[in-house]
Amino acid sequence: MQKAIYINGLWVEPRSGETRSIVNPATGEMISEVGYGGRDEALAAVAAADAAFEPWRQKTVYERAVMLRMLADAIRGRQDDLAHILTMEVGKPLAEAGAEIGAAADQFEWYAEEVKRAAGDVIPPRLDNRRHLTIRHPVGPVAAITPWNFPVMLAARKMAPAMAAGCPIVVRPASQTPLTLIEVFRLLEAIGFENGVANLVVGHPGECSQVFVEDERLKKISFTGSLSVGRELYAACAKRMKKITLELGGHSPFIILPDVPLDEAVACAVFAKFRNMGQVCISASRFYIPNDLKAAFEERVVAAVSELKVGDGRDPETNVGPLFEAKRVQASMSLIKDLEAKGGKVLYGGGPPEGEAYNQGNFFLPTVVTDIRDDMKIMQEEPFAPILPIIGYETIDDAIAMANDTPYGLAAYAVTRDLRYTVKLAEELEAGIIGINDCAPSAAQCPFGGMKQSGVGREGWSQGLEAYYETKYISIGI
Ligand code: NAP
Repeated sequence: MQKAIYINGLWVEPRSGETRSIVNPATGEMISEVGYGGRDEALAAVAAADAAFEPWRQKTVYERAVMLRMLADAIRGRQDDLAHILTMEVGKPLAEAGAEIGAAADQFEWYAEEVKRAAGDVIPPRLDNRRHLTIRHPVGPVAAITPWNFPVMLAARKMAPAMAAGCPIVVRPASQTPLTLIEVFRLLEAIGFENGVANLVVGHPGECSQVFVEDERLKKISFTGSLSVGRELYAACAKRMKKITLELGGHSPFIILPDVPLDEAVACAVFAKFRNMGQVCISASRFYIPNDLKAAFEERVVAAVSELKVGDGRDPETNVGPLFEAKRVQASMSLIKDLEAKGGKVLYGGGPPEGEAYNQGNFFLPTVVTDIRDDMKIMQEEPFAPILPIIGYETIDDAIAMANDTPYGLAAYAVTRDLRYTVKLAEELEAGIIGINDCAPSAAQCPFGGMKQSGVGREGWSQGLEAYYETKYISIGI
């Protein structure tokens, strides 16, 4: 059994002795068995984070920054082998896994720098016998709950700003993908972060989150995951006035404007859809194209998608790996059945690929569909599937109205070279992240988060750091 719980500077086994198997989605093979904790381990981790708070916050930002920078460098130093482990546990191709490891390192590097600029304010007084200022105070020990689709980067996006601000953290990753993060914690251990500053608890989600919500020593939760679990946690935190940041799901539109060459539009669309097999919170999931270009676009998308090589992510030739779980294959199949029953048409794919190489893994062909109606499940639910639906539009106003017609507001995409379209889309699309001619708009130095039901708060950029501070206002009579 591999130890997967790191509390107060020690790797421990769960008190219950429970374990979980970690399985490679491309082969169905068990790649590790890890210790699986619960309430006891969550409580111990919160106690460790609480004890670490005062000494950690009292370090200068320069001292904390040096350690975070060392962690960024250590992660980059092992980029290739960490990517290999990540591919084994999530299924994404090696190139995408390497990019995720690099993006995780970016988080530690960027917040090591940004925290040095987290200054307070001196505010001009109205009365001449007063002086006003603000200082920043770390919120206290915090917890992170993260999903399986980007298990390293999403944990780093919470750990880096929290630790930079002076907040010790308890990270509870998704049960099925702890392996690469365990390695990151081993790097952190080797660097010599003080005990309790970063803790890892792989264990029962309900038991751990109940501790995080109820324990008053823990001052904030940062959650990335589904809308349904996010809603539950938000309600539970509201009862106790506990702070929470929520990064939830999306249903992102992708608008092709008539001025852009179709081949460019197709390349961007295919990347925005099939990265991590569509299992990305900011995956484009509805593709709007002018009616008179629709047939040509469909033909070229099908040609591009048929060139994608589906396979084990460890094969450097692979463009798209397996889906994460068998139930994601069933969910994708059910989206296809539903749309076909309602008059939709599959132009390419629509089910698992054939051949012995695909028998054991959770493979599904990258799929292109058309004749889409609003009442189809694929338009109503976050698909999280490798399916690219094509929808025609008459005017740009129609396209924007359809794009905004969803309770989600995480990301939106467009391809255009026309400045007037660009400004209109930037101003009218209801999304926290808008990629114009950019099909992967995520970076440590930029804000990331959703409008409407896609979330509360932002990660990344200085707002990501702000989320771990309280502002103290000091008024001095003189
Ligand atoms: P999920 O079911 O909500 O799981 C996310 C995390 O919450 C996992 O660690 C999970 O643990 C845990 N969890 C599950 N049930 C819980 C409960 N009752 N209380 C507390 N924690 C609980 O989400 P998912 O389906 O795995 O992940 C995909 C979703 O995440 C999609 O909606 C996607 O859009 C969203 N996402 C959002 C962002 C963003 O930045 N906005 C980024 C990536 C993904 P277990 O794994 O052990 O079940």
